[in-house]
Amino acid sequence: MDRKLKIAIQKSGRLSDDSVKLLKKCGISFGNGLGKLRSEANNFPLEIFFLRDDDIPNYVEDSVADIGIVGENVLAEKDCEVETIEKLGFGKCRLSLALPKSFEYVSVKDFEGKRIATSYPKILGNFLSKNNVEAELHTISGSVEIAPSIGLADAVCDIVSSGSTLFTNGLKEVETVMRSEAVLIKRKGLDEDSQKLLNKLLFRIRAGKSAEENKYILLNAPNENLEKIIEILPGMRSPSVLPLAESGWSSVHSVINENDFWEVVENLKTEGAEGVLVLSIDQMIQ
Ligand code: ATP
Ligand code: ZN
Repeated sequence: MDRKLKIAIQKSGRLSDDSVKLLKKCGISFGNGLGKLRSEANNFPLEIFFLRDDDIPNYVEDSVADIGIVGENVLAEKDCEVETIEKLGFGKCRLSLALPKSFEYVSVKDFEGKRIATSYPKILGNFLSKNNVEAELHTISGSVEIAPSIGLADAVCDIVSSGSTLFTNGLKEVETVMRSEAVLIKRKGLDEDSQKLLNKLLFRIRAGKSAEENKYILLNAPNENLEKIIEILPGMRSPSVLPLAESGWSSVHSVINENDFWEVVENLKTEGAEGVLVLSIDQMIQ
């Protein structure tokens, strides 16, 4: 099989580093030297295209690439016939409406009749009509946040992650229009061979993602509390229990979700666990 899967990722921007990291974490090695538009993996049938993020949905729709990594915000703004297959957990941000700091904001109705500058007229238009608000949208492609200070608009709708850009431009965030993160998309009608390659890649992506969401935990437990400790630690199937050289004690090994981590550790301590070690997991195949 000499077919190669073609993936489009952002050339340079907020998704670039994490997209490259994700592929490398899948064990795929390739050169991504500056200025390169295209690269071939050495150890996986994958061709990587480095593109502007806004172009990625179109390239995938037009079959220039089979799959792509792009923000949900960009995807929602385009009318592209592509399929979202996996959320990737990076590039998290939100599309928000913002007004001058001094504005006494009450509700979304305050946007009625306002001039709003945005690069996302489609998403914003849908949001406003859902809320029965009529506003005048001004589509601009960059530096949206300066529009109110130069008198071009009364409000803005833009991507925010910390809010500091808005703040330094005298604006405050008042409504979240959409939440977004990077997703993996694929074109319609992928042939069987390409789909097989994609499944292989997805298997690796999911193993890496599970690994990031979980921790490996080891601890020593007094045998009399073993049952309670095992209950706290469900593990992938169930925890491994090994006897310690010292009688009356066991070593317990398990996997726990990152979100439950501190609570689990506290409960373990209460049940007499000692010498708790927590390790990162590189890959986790379920
Ligand atoms: P390009 O040159 O590829 O068109 P760009 O300037 O349009 O790049 P970036 O600013 O690199 O785009 O953002 C790419 C994506 O990263 C956004 O569409 C969004 O999904 C995500 N993102 C995450 N956090 C932020 C943020 N604080 N500001 C902007 N985008 C963010
Ligand atoms: Zn862009």
